[in-house]
Amino acid sequence: MLSDNININEKGHLTFAGVDTVDLAKKYGTPLYLIDEDKIVGRVREYKSAMKSAFTPDSEPCFAGKALCYTDLYRTLEKENMWIDVVSPGEFYTAKNAGFDLSRAMFHGNNKTDDDLRMALQMGVGRIVVDSLDEAIALEGIAGEMGMKASVLLRLTPGIDPHTLKAINTGTVDSKFGVAIETGDAEKLVEKVLGFKNITLYGYHCHIGSQVFDCAPFIEASDRMLGFSADIKEKYGFEAPEINLGGGMAVKYVESDPEISYSKNIAEIGEYIDTLLEKLSLKKPRIFMEPGRSTVADSGMTLYTVGSVKCIKDYKNYVSVDGGMADNPRYALYESPYTLINASYADKAPDFKATVGGRCCESGDLIQERVGLFRPERGDILAVCTTGAYNFSMSSNYNRLLRPALVTLSAGKDRISVKRQTFEDLVRNDL
Ligand SMILES: *Cc1c(COP(=O)(O)O)cnc(C)c1O
Repeated sequence: MLSDNININEKGHLTFAGVDTVDLAKKYGTPLYLIDEDKIVGRVREYKSAMKSAFTPDSEPCFAGKALCYTDLYRTLEKENMWIDVVSPGEFYTAKNAGFDLSRAMFHGNNKTDDDLRMALQMGVGRIVVDSLDEAIALEGIAGEMGMKASVLLRLTPGIDPHTLKAINTGTVDSKFGVAIETGDAEKLVEKVLGFKNITLYGYHCHIGSQVFDCAPFIEASDRMLGFSADIKEKYGFEAPEINLGGGMAVKYVESDPEISYSKNIAEIGEYIDTLLEKLSLKKPRIFMEPGRSTVADSGMTLYTVGSVKCIKDYKNYVSVDGGMADNPRYALYESPYTLINASYADKAPDFKATVGGRCCESGDLIQERVGLFRPERGDILAVCTTGAYNFSMSSNYNRLLRPALVTLSAGKDRISVKRQTFEDLVRNDL
């Protein structure tokens, strides 16, 4: 099986985190998001211990909430004393709603409004990752008005191409995010910010992209970031105590993807950084990383009920399910690969090639094309694996479809964490 939380029981049904998925579909209805909480906790602890041993004892992973964000998840993350990365007031409001201590939050975004900055300071967000000179100037003013000091990292573009999809590649000079080292703009920004009264500069942040299988891009990013830090130390006497290397570690979505060990990758990056620091005569900085996808993707699964099955002679077999791009837009956006299983007959070998489509009025509304499945029939439960990241968080009400419920699984028990939307929810703000 793709992940160790996926299995088959004696009824031939697919199980997830030890629970029968066909029973869950019956109990809660479909489409349904499932989240394996124990797996998330395991991954959080793996990241924490790997980073503390590879870097400094106060180094921390920050979970990137844009991958998955709802109150119950932040309760779990608070218990684990996890740091988080937030990209909007909506995200940090959700964390606060769970009682999360926002001093362990990093606030990102290429266009934070004045109101966003004010709210972040007021709610005690731990670090603001400033994305541009304009934003630094605005923050200096707002913090001054509020009589506060803002704790800041600067978002830099190290000029790295991690060779992932263009849409999720963010570390090159030509980017709407951050300020480039290569053009000299990063240095100018540091010089300015060091002169600001209401900002305390802690260091630098970069995020090179997503679904990166290899350590090499992270090593290259460390090289540029620490090289820049050494350069600034020499010219301005400021040695950054914190470096944030961003997120982007990959996830295994299909059998043909390589296995990935996050702790091994981190150890390798740590070893490289140690030799580099010696060469540059820098002290060991506190290192942050921001795993989103790799914290939660394999902790998720989506269940659908199969509707119509159309075999178009000499063309394709279309299998329609009761969800689609409204609950998982990733195939429509990026042609993302997924593993699909007929959960009602998980013990049967695939014998049918299917293009699985959703129920939206849109030909591009597909979950996956040309996948092998045990021949599905109306009423079967279809499982899409590895949907923990960027599914629930990217869902919409397109076609006025109701957002699915999200059920958390832990120690063999199920509990509802997000209720299924109702038709009343749909018209709640309509006047
Ligand atoms: C998207 C993003 C992340 C998380 O990326 P993953 O690929 O999900 O690990 C982390 N940091 C920043 C700034 C991001 O934009």
